[in-house]
Amino acid sequence: MNKYDIAVIGAGPAGYNCAINFAKKGKKVVIIEKYNLGGTCLNRGCIPTKFLWQAASVKQTISKSYEYGLKSSLEPVNFQEIINKKNKLVENLVKGVARLLTANKVDVIKGTASFKNKNELNIKTETEEINISADKIIIAAGSESKSIPNIEYDHQKYIDSTDALNLTEVPKTMLVIGAGAIGIELSSIFAAFGCKVTLREICPQILPSEDSDLAQELSRVLARQGIKVEAGCTDTLKDKDSFEKILIVAGRKSNSDELKPENVGLNLDNRKFVSTQNYSTNVDNIFAIGDATAKGFLAYTAEQDAINVVENLQSKNPVPKVVFSFPPVASVKAVDYDNYKDVVFGKSTFISNARAQIEGQRTGWIKVAIDNISKKIIGVWIIGVNADELIESATMIIKSNMKVTDLSKDMFFHPGLSEILLEATKNC
Ligand SMILES: Cc1cc2nc3c(=O)[nH]c(=O)nc-3n(C[C@H](O)[C@H](O)[C@H](O)COP(=O)(O)OP(=O)(O)OC[C@H]3O[C@@H](n4cnc5c(N)ncnc54)[C@H](O)[C@@H]3O)c2cc1C
Repeated sequence: MNKYDIAVIGAGPAGYNCAINFAKKGKKVVIIEKYNLGGTCLNRGCIPTKFLWQAASVKQTISKSYEYGLKSSLEPVNFQEIINKKNKLVENLVKGVARLLTANKVDVIKGTASFKNKNELNIKTETEEINISADKIIIAAGSESKSIPNIEYDHQKYIDSTDALNLTEVPKTMLVIGAGAIGIELSSIFAAFGCKVTLREICPQILPSEDSDLAQELSRVLARQGIKVEAGCTDTLKDKDSFEKILIVAGRKSNSDELKPENVGLNLDNRKFVSTQNYSTNVDNIFAIGDATAKGFLAYTAEQDAINVVENLQSKNPVPKVVFSFPPVASVKAVDYDNYKDVVFGKSTFISNARAQIEGQRTGWIKVAIDNISKKIIGVWIIGVNADELIESATMIIKSNMKVTDLSKDMFFHPGLSEILLEATKNC
């Protein structure tokens, strides 16, 4: 039986980064992956969705070329061709992960891992069953699409996000159940390609855990794009027969059963995600990171976990959040945001910004929250073009405890979209 210092289960952003980080420290590492290297992020998450979003953006840009005195015309969309291009990109990125693992001398086994005991894993490959042993085992097994009660995915009419990313034709009508980030992104993408989308959410607002001001503005923006938005919907399937496809994106569920956690007495939470305290589980040599712990459901928090578990660190950084609608929305709050009691807000709009006018992107605003006592910037919410990039500077500002007074002494490139952030702080 092969013996390793470290065995990592799952090769998504949590797993492959963790394996590489341990290998760089001179450890003998193996990673086990049942599907493709790169996990959800590369194969059926971040990368495919953003590729399709970009394709839709290009289509929108072409149709707006007349605003710049340019004439252009668009041939009918061949969605299969877009999916082929997306698949090619994914394939290349997956190869990139394989190269990184090889360069760092990480052994890769293709198969499904489960615990035999706290130091041994059983791995079912396509052709055989093998056992390996390791001093430390890191669970980075990710998560899966979750349906709604009493509805099973049939992957034909009732589809999950992976099915949606592989449709070869744009459906005429689609009901999207769940208005979290994934539901909003896929609604926006399919609507941009001509699908009549109805987006339903059981909670009182779309993006249930987001600032209500931002969620309301986004609702209006989606409605202007022809998406029928219904929040606070108690019967999400009321007229199910009138839709060609029903995409259910009602959160993520655990896949820990396959790991046979009972064989090592591993503690799980009430949704069967692995219970952790700073990445440690109740079994002394077993750790868990990324989606498998239900503490983030983001590729970059998973990647941060992959550093922290190796370096024995804890993460206390503000986490930016982005949703790729048209335009995108983004937000970030200080980790201790809820402790501030005297908070003032300032807003500035994209329409009042020269660069946004030049880009023909007049929708949206930036809102800033300031602690009225220390004058520290403690929250930023953006709906508008390049929100996904602008939020990065906002995150740095919050992380470095910058005050409004510090920011007003800084120079902002003109004409730039960042000027909106500065203007918003002036309006506090
Ligand atoms: C449609 C969609 C869009 C998304 N967009 C974004 C985005 O824009 N930005 C962002 O930050 N996040 C996004 N996410 C979330 C992001 O993809 C995940 O948070 C991230 O991939 C989690 O990384 P992970 O390594 O923990 O798990 P995963 O990426 O899920 O990787 C886990 C891996 O473990 C493997 N595995 C599981 N069990 C076993 C086993 N028993 N044996 C062997 N292998 C196993 C799985 O096959 C998988 O490859 C998106 C998700 C979805 C679904």
